[in-house]
Amino acid sequence: MKPLLRHLLDTLLPPGCLVCDAPVDDDGQFCLTCFRAVSFVSAPLCAQCGVPLPHGGLAGAEGICPHCAAHPPAFTQARAALRYDETAQKLILPFKYADRTELARGLARLMRRPGASLLAAADMLVPVPLHRLRLRARRYNQAALLARELSRLSGRPCMPDALIRPKHTAPLEGLNLAQRQAELAEAVALRPGCAVAGAHVLLVDDVMTSGTTADACARALLAAGARRVDVLTAARVADPRFEQKPLA
Ligand SMILES: [Zn+2]
Ligand SMILES: [Zn+2]
Repeated sequence: MKPLLRHLLDTLLPPGCLVCDAPVDDDGQFCLTCFRAVSFVSAPLCAQCGVPLPHGGLAGAEGICPHCAAHPPAFTQARAALRYDETAQKLILPFKYADRTELARGLARLMRRPGASLLAAADMLVPVPLHRLRLRARRYNQAALLARELSRLSGRPCMPDALIRPKHTAPLEGLNLAQRQAELAEAVALRPGCAVAGAHVLLVDDVMTSGTTADACARALLAAGARRVDVLTAARVADPRFEQKPLA
């Protein structure tokens, strides 16, 4: 469907559930069935990368997960709205790959609560960039759509083109940390002429998996003089190693 036609239909039709399109009261809501199925990211979390942790264990004295303790990321704090499970995929995948760009509005609303303090402290919102070949194939950068909606909701300025991906990278799935970092080295850069010196930047993306991409973006921003970089995503992949209760 043409985006304009879809937009027109969206404004004429009553609001639908973010996942299944059943009627709901307002935009950006779940119907009761989907609300029960959806899983919000909730405490305890790693204070730094925001990964959900099991109750009563794992986080060290600073509330940091073992991964952040061993390999500290360049960003200060990452937070997300949803656990990236089957229900979240029903929402994120159409948004990312099937032109359901209108879902950005509902997703941004969900991100507002877990990101409240990060949004309040941010000088600017910057989306994780796509390489131009991927951008051409997909026609839009889903992270930029989220950053724009969050900018609208929070009043924080959005710099949608601040970061670029000059190098085309292979998918990171299945690579170990060193391989992912090597693949992403110099893959992200600041667009010439973009000023981030001294700024507190909030990086925005749809899904955070290992955090390596967010880390590469944060490194590029900090190298360009940003004071601090935080990360806000719509969904977070839980780490299976942290999902079981630790042995007593
Ligand atoms: Zn539903
Ligand atoms: Zn962590």
